[in-house]
Amino acid sequence: MKRSTSEVIFLIFFFPLVIGFYLIYKYPLWFVDKPEDVVKYFYFFGKSTGFWYSTLYTGLVVSICGKVLLNGSTPYGKNKRKKISPYQSKKFKSILFSQLIFFYIIPYILPALTKGGSFFNDAYAPVNKNAYIYVYNGFTSIGGFLYIFAIVPVAVWFLGKRYCSWFCACGNLAEAIGVTKWGNQWVQKLTPRSKTSQKAESLQYLFLAAAVCFGVLIFLDTWKIFAAGSILESWRMAQDLVVDLLFGALIGVGAYPLFGTRIWCRFGCPLAGGMRLFGKFTKSRFKVIANESCKGLNLCTTQCPMGIDVASYAHKDKKPIMGSFGLNESPCIGCGGCIDICPVKGLEFKKILSDDLQIGAIEAQV
Ligand code: SF4
Ligand code: SF4
Ligand code: SF4
Repeated sequence: MKRSTSEVIFLIFFFPLVIGFYLIYKYPLWFVDKPEDVVKYFYFFGKSTGFWYSTLYTGLVVSICGKVLLNGSTPYGKNKRKKISPYQSKKFKSILFSQLIFFYIIPYILPALTKGGSFFNDAYAPVNKNAYIYVYNGFTSIGGFLYIFAIVPVAVWFLGKRYCSWFCACGNLAEAIGVTKWGNQWVQKLTPRSKTSQKAESLQYLFLAAAVCFGVLIFLDTWKIFAAGSILESWRMAQDLVVDLLFGALIGVGAYPLFGTRIWCRFGCPLAGGMRLFGKFTKSRFKVIANESCKGLNLCTTQCPMGIDVASYAHKDKKPIMGSFGLNESPCIGCGGCIDICPVKGLEFKKILSDDLQIGAIEAQV
């Protein structure tokens, strides 16, 4: 892919900044001796690196989504006169408000305002390297259990993995960057789409298995059935270093300009692995369906951040085949980019409460 001079200059600063920042953000004590020194050297205006990181992250997501919504034209493809679809409008509103409220105001603004004292006066606290996407939280509390093993699966059964394109904090950035000028080029031209890359998605199940084992260990330890502080400690260190820092943060965000926006979501995220497995075993109702309008233009495939060959379900030698796919066949996150970019409305989502007989008829023709 040919990059413009401004993009090259941006990347020269981007990679060292991302690496340097994440190391300091997640492991400040690698760089200074005492917690007080973290406050002295890495806090700005009395606020932690976590606060500033989330401010920048949320600012980016909110401004890109706000721009898309204010423009009122589709963020996919070159036809800027095409109006934004109701689906994309709802999706970008969901991203904007979920990021702002659940991942910024509630964790970073409200506690500081309600605890009293000066807003700009954070005490040192180690960065929380824990997140629900790591699945092991399903074993640490009743709320976590219900979230991971009840709420998310029910949503998957009805909606597929739209959690990833409408709500998740990691997906919010990926979705927003994916519709910027450079980000869309990265998605179109650099997302791995080979059969080998699709096979490599199984790696995600390894991360899921590791997360479940870790969760079981934590559970056993909590109930004093098997207390193994040293095993737990080493497992946590590996989880923090390999999964959270190396894959989730450095590769997850740093690889955007190299392999598109969804490397972590395709190959790493344990929650996505769980969602896909659940969708397969329970025959989730989620599907993307191709219809007879397809003209074989292949634009849909180029727009998919998850590397799915969407066009292969829509046409063969430019003749429509009216295929469909869901979580059985693909890691689709329901972002709707493939649907929006198609100029002839050759694709659509299966209606959530639609008649199964109709789908059966469509599949039988493939
Ligand atoms: S794959 Fe995981 S990290 Fe990515 S958007 Fe989905 S839940 Fe979030
Ligand atoms: S579904 Fe639309 S974008 Fe995809 S191949 Fe057919 S005409 Fe092209
Ligand atoms: S197949 Fe379409 S809806 Fe699914 S992830 Fe790819 S672009 Fe998004």
